[in-house]
Amino acid sequence: MVTATFRFYEELNTFLPIERRKRAFDAVSARAATTKHMIEALGVPHTEVELVLVNGETAGFDRLLRDGDRVAVYPKFEALDISPLLRVRGHPLRKSRFIADAHLGGLAHLLRMTGFDTLYDNNFRDSAIASIAEKEERIVLTRDRELLKRRIITHGCYVHALKPARQLKEIFDRLDLARSARPFTLCLQCNAPLRSIDKALVEERLPPKVSAHFERFSTCDLCQRVFWEGTHWRSMQALLAELTATKRS
Ligand SMILES: [Zn+2]
Repeated sequence: MVTATFRFYEELNTFLPIERRKRAFDAVSARAATTKHMIEALGVPHTEVELVLVNGETAGFDRLLRDGDRVAVYPKFEALDISPLLRVRGHPLRKSRFIADAHLGGLAHLLRMTGFDTLYDNNFRDSAIASIAEKEERIVLTRDRELLKRRIITHGCYVHALKPARQLKEIFDRLDLARSARPFTLCLQCNAPLRSIDKALVEERLPPKVSAHFERFSTCDLCQRVFWEGTHWRSMQALLAELTATKRS
């Protein structure tokens, strides 16, 4: 048996029982347990961890624990630049593309609205989510920490907030998405790219009020729906303005 002392920082504490939050505590592991194994055994999904220090030095997820080790576990840093230190993950994915679990339909919808390619299907099983994420290099979004403990998932976000708008803010902040948002470029239904289309080509399909008030239209080639800058568009613009404003402050 090996006894190591653990301390988890910032929001990682929400995964721990109250008596282990924001303090150092001892944990016993089988001989030859890795940092990753123990961190997950203590309840924290590996996708939430950005940096591990063992006895004050950066360590990877595969570091074997020894008796008396002191392990400090950090989430993504917002302010502190840790670039000279070794992070536990190889490198960020080139593009932010997502797959959301069945409980995050509202968030998936908002992400598509802001232009982020997000797969979502009520019927996805956990194993399908994990293998699609691996194959297509998608970031898994979920409130199920067991899903994030799957080994083939390299990039994931545990979503803490409960309401879709707050969830969107949480993901925007964590992954710094505000600058790459491209609102109204994806079909909310199909997750496929929208293209702009001449009013004349869609006019006969528009409700008279829409036809009278709007000039710019776009369409999805998969479902043939037509979109315009109506109420949805305006409330999304307001939400985005809020997200980018908080980011700057
Ligand atoms: Zn569509």
